[in-house]
Amino acid sequence: MTVTRFAPSPTGYLHVGNLRTALFNFMIARKSGGKFILRLDDTDQERSKQEYVDGIQRDLEWLGIEWDVVERQSTRLDRYEAAAQKLREIERFYECFETPVDLDLKRKKQLNMGKPPVYDRAALELSPAERDALRAERAGHWRFLLNQTRINWTDQILGDISIDAASVSDPVLIRGDGQFLYTLASVVDDTEMGVTHVVRGSDHVTNTATQIQIMESLGFDAPTFAHHSLLTGPQGEALSKRLGTLALRDLREQGVEPLALLSHMARLGSSENVELMHSMQDLIDGFDLTSFGAAPTKFDVADLFPITGRYLAAQEYAAVSDSIAALGVPADKGEAFWETIHGNITTRHDLADWWALCRDGAEPVIADEDREFIAAAMALLPDAPHTDATWGEWTGAVKAATGRKGKGLFQPLRRALTGQDAGPVMAKLLPLLQVIKAKG
Ligand code: GLU
Repeated sequence: MTVTRFAPSPTGYLHVGNLRTALFNFMIARKSGGKFILRLDDTDQERSKQEYVDGIQRDLEWLGIEWDVVERQSTRLDRYEAAAQKLREIERFYECFETPVDLDLKRKKQLNMGKPPVYDRAALELSPAERDALRAERAGHWRFLLNQTRINWTDQILGDISIDAASVSDPVLIRGDGQFLYTLASVVDDTEMGVTHVVRGSDHVTNTATQIQIMESLGFDAPTFAHHSLLTGPQGEALSKRLGTLALRDLREQGVEPLALLSHMARLGSSENVELMHSMQDLIDGFDLTSFGAAPTKFDVADLFPITGRYLAAQEYAAVSDSIAALGVPADKGEAFWETIHGNITTRHDLADWWALCRDGAEPVIADEDREFIAAAMALLPDAPHTDATWGEWTGAVKAATGRKGKGLFQPLRRALTGQDAGPVMAKLLPLLQVIKAKG
């Protein structure tokens, strides 16, 4: 059975970059009838917060990305300790005592000498006495001893990858304060939870290389890996600093619709065009991991609004009736209101503006040369209630009385009634207008 996982650290809210990872893993599992795990990588007790756990779950629920099971790394520390112990036994784990300052100096020296900044394994040279002396001074951290061979795998997005382990520092798996780091915890979880496909951002490629060796050393089979490209801004600029402003909760507040967002993210960066999907099942059926390329993927938040508008335009009244009722639209007018304005909104927030226009009327916009014409037209407008037929009858009478036709007839009337140059079909809007300010 295919098993995937989405493994955010609850140290912040989800953003569009995380969403790609969540969505890909979710779709792979659903497409194959497999299992999708939400794994909270919360071994960092200081930075992990329940508020973020709740936020992550709320965002996924909003999107309809349903997980089969939640796991928390903080409840599995004994499993990581067991793995660490095994690494010590097979002598692939060693204790180091360099401070961050020491490490930084080493790195700078190496760079000055034109060497790659790879940890020099000085700790392996310590005598037992030196080690004891250092241990009395400060807590040691633990590194995995890489075999300095090439690490190869066939990535489902990047293709064949080969990384020289000698160009990578032995990864720290346990910090001085005893905290297990993600690299080890993830290896143990992915194996024990039966994860078959690890799909994550390409910033994890080097991690994958070291994790493959850790898995091998512990006698575990490596899963299939796929690394999707990272998002950039519309001009190709790094998005990392702006991701905080692209939080899913902010997009929700701005009125982006879940299926519009998912449709966009499920195709962005693939060889397929973005296509608005009307159900999660359609999205899943149309998803193909192999259609994604390795190149950085440009993301423009502005693209989410037109697709949200198209999504909304296609909705039946039932899908939006709650939002409409919440505005105070009377129940007997709700459906007509929706049928009238649904093609003229970008997000649900726009419903409020259209309803305000219907309820309170709009400030008329009347050009000087149209003043007489509008006055004559308003005199011909029958009293409310208006029906779908009123507009046609009224404009027919106005045409007969003024001789105006076409745009010269309709456009000034629209501006006088709505204050706008464009909008819904007037024949449908007129019966909803409870106040017509131009009538005086
Ligand atoms: N917690 C890690 C992250 O958010 C998970 C990476 C992974 O998918 O293995 O980067």
